[in-house]
Amino acid sequence: RKTTLTRLKEQPTASLDGARVELAANIGRVEDVAKALVNGAEGIGLFRTEFLYMGRDSLPSEEEQMNSYRVVLEKMEGKPVVIRTLDIGGDKELPYLNLPKESNPFLGLRALRFCLKREDLFRTQLRALLRASRFGNLKIMFPMIAVLDELLEAKRVLAEERAKLEAEGVELGAHIEVGMMIEVPSAAVAADLFAKEVDFFSIGTNDLIQYTMAADRMNESVAYLYQPCHPTILRLVNMVIRAAEREGKWVGMCGEMAGDPSAVPLLLGLGLHEFSMSAGSVLPTRELIAGLSKHEWSRLAEQALTMRSQEDVLQFVQHQLKGAN
Ligand code: PEP
Ligand code: MG
Repeated sequence: RKTTLTRLKEQPTASLDGARVELAANIGRVEDVAKALVNGAEGIGLFRTEFLYMGRDSLPSEEEQMNSYRVVLEKMEGKPVVIRTLDIGGDKELPYLNLPKESNPFLGLRALRFCLKREDLFRTQLRALLRASRFGNLKIMFPMIAVLDELLEAKRVLAEERAKLEAEGVELGAHIEVGMMIEVPSAAVAADLFAKEVDFFSIGTNDLIQYTMAADRMNESVAYLYQPCHPTILRLVNMVIRAAEREGKWVGMCGEMAGDPSAVPLLLGLGLHEFSMSAGSVLPTRELIAGLSKHEWSRLAEQALTMRSQEDVLQFVQHQLKGAN
């Protein structure tokens, strides 16, 4: 098995019937890139930049951030790198910002909401990203968007910083895609509206499930409601992919679900383009996909959408996987 996986490291990801998808890795630190490459990742699907801001007592400077982004982009040698703007709040705090305590931090001033309040800090990060863009294939992604106005505002700030840098004569990357995470149910439901305004979506199922099920992702007592293969979640994922497809945009997933072996066949069938996961899951997922017919799973996933529970879906998936062997 080890040798099979090693062989797969050099190969692109394709299904049994020849459909190509991209398997990317999630990283939190610049050093994680090495592990992504060793494990055959075809890109970085999520760089959680909040770790550059944590474990210290002041904000990282534009220069410091730009150097970190540059190293990641260079090490990936032109492969796609999705860098997410700061997702602070929720369970991730920055003590040196002295933010007021919130009674529901996961429903509070988190991620892009915070960045639009603290535009100074947001602009610094965007400038660092733009300045790093010429060193690789950068895609910028905004987290936790609930309504269209937030996306438009973020894009406006980005365009302003871009124009300033251009006026300063700074060299930028040729084509920087701009996308957003789909992790708030309101964004999934209105994905058709958002799809017209972005180059791509990445579905953040850790939060999308938490907010759809109204179940705190840190609370053990309600952990049973974390059900990635529940038809409700599959329907949302399906809506998002269909909406993006109609606008010719690509869709990735960077929540835990993307590397879940029970979910992968369904996601392939629904037409997900990019799967981003912890580096260690990349090769096993490539092996799994190589044995699946996308055409067949597209039909099976349709059936799963109409089922009554996650248990029904999981049994169905297991049964189909056994039948195929
Ligand atoms: C997610 O919500 O699925 C996600 C990938 O973001 P994070 O886990 O960093 O909140
Ligand atoms: Mg999230």
